[in-house]
Amino acid sequence: PYTYSASFAAFDRAARVIPAGVPGHLGPSEGCFIPNGAFPRFSSRAEGSRFWDVDGNEYIDYMCGYGPNVLGYRDRDVDAAAAAQARVEDVVTLPSTVMVDLAELLVETVASADWAFFAKNGGDTTTLAVMTARAHTRRKKVVFVEGYYHGVAPWTQKLDYPGVLEEDVANNLDVPWNDLIALEAMFERHAGEIAAFISTPYFHGNFLDNVLPAPGYWQGVRDLCDRHGVVLIMDDVRAGWRLDLAGSDHHYGIKADLICFCKAIGNGYNLSALCGREQFKESVASLTYTGSYWMSAVPFAASIATITKLKEIDAPALFRAQGRKVTDGLVAAAAGHGLTLVASGEPALFYLRLADDDSLLLHQAWVAECVQRGLWITSHHNHFLNASLTDADIDRTLEVADEAFRLVAARHG
Ligand code: PMP
Repeated sequence: PYTYSASFAAFDRAARVIPAGVPGHLGPSEGCFIPNGAFPRFSSRAEGSRFWDVDGNEYIDYMCGYGPNVLGYRDRDVDAAAAAQARVEDVVTLPSTVMVDLAELLVETVASADWAFFAKNGGDTTTLAVMTARAHTRRKKVVFVEGYYHGVAPWTQKLDYPGVLEEDVANNLDVPWNDLIALEAMFERHAGEIAAFISTPYFHGNFLDNVLPAPGYWQGVRDLCDRHGVVLIMDDVRAGWRLDLAGSDHHYGIKADLICFCKAIGNGYNLSALCGREQFKESVASLTYTGSYWMSAVPFAASIATITKLKEIDAPALFRAQGRKVTDGLVAAAAGHGLTLVASGEPALFYLRLADDDSLLLHQAWVAECVQRGLWITSHHNHFLNASLTDADIDRTLEVADEAFRLVAARHG
């Protein structure tokens, strides 16, 4: 198994000068995603479907930077487009028309997009979407799906989180996933008060099996939103362009009013976009909302190259096929050792759970054995595919997973 002495030494340095050492979901503070000690803390290099940590250990990567790596790390076409733009200009006093080129491409590509507004993080776009809905409807309340994640802005947090005020979350309402009856009851109870319903295209929460929309669910949501004048916001930050290049709302048969994109938009170049329908364009334009780097030209060029290539290779079909190979193979490998692995969610973003132990510790032990042998998966979060993953990578994935299943089955009986 791999060892991580250089990683841990770097983490000691980090902890002295950076709060939490590595903050957020890439750090060990989320100890239950990543069993401490089993995972390294810093990478040094990445290419295609793989990255290397600072100790030189190599990994086949099924987290893809938590989503941005959609074509393969350091994709030549994307990097060439970005480099060509960088030679000309990037952050300047006026934006480049490459921003307009990308907006035109998004309007042409995404079914519910009549316009695109650019920012940097996924959370910038979910916040913009909620502000837009409030400006448009002159209402305050927002309905969420229980177990949601829409970023880290105060309005997305919970009252018991440090630094969050009652006022920040006073207008938040929750309904269960896939529950049209609860949604209708909520809309009726707060008639005339609800600005927006915000949801990911399917339930891909953490620590829980992921759940696809029930037949008719999204059409039912669309109808209820129309009937009650509620803005339908699709948070496609995580799933966007891995299921459908026209948007995950299109994939599930509806048109959202506003749709949030980020992760897969530029193959790692820093960009996000809120897209939406014509009737919201003036409301977005009326807001005070911008940032120092939001019109940086290099990520726009990278994004055009990324989306063009995703279309050329029909990436969603590839992800569906490769995701099925991976999950079918993993489930069969587990069964070969008398274990039950549950794979849920869309194959492009599969979620895994070893079901033989409710504490989830057996699952974490298996994940740790995989990581220490070069297969990078994580414990209680969905995974991500990238287009550079080969069949040979998948064969190697299944070999490592099989060995890890053998080890945990032997150890835990
Ligand atoms: N929404 C969803 C569904 C996400 O998965 C994420 C990021 N994990 C966000 C919003 C926030 O995006 P960011 O971290 O880029 O602000």
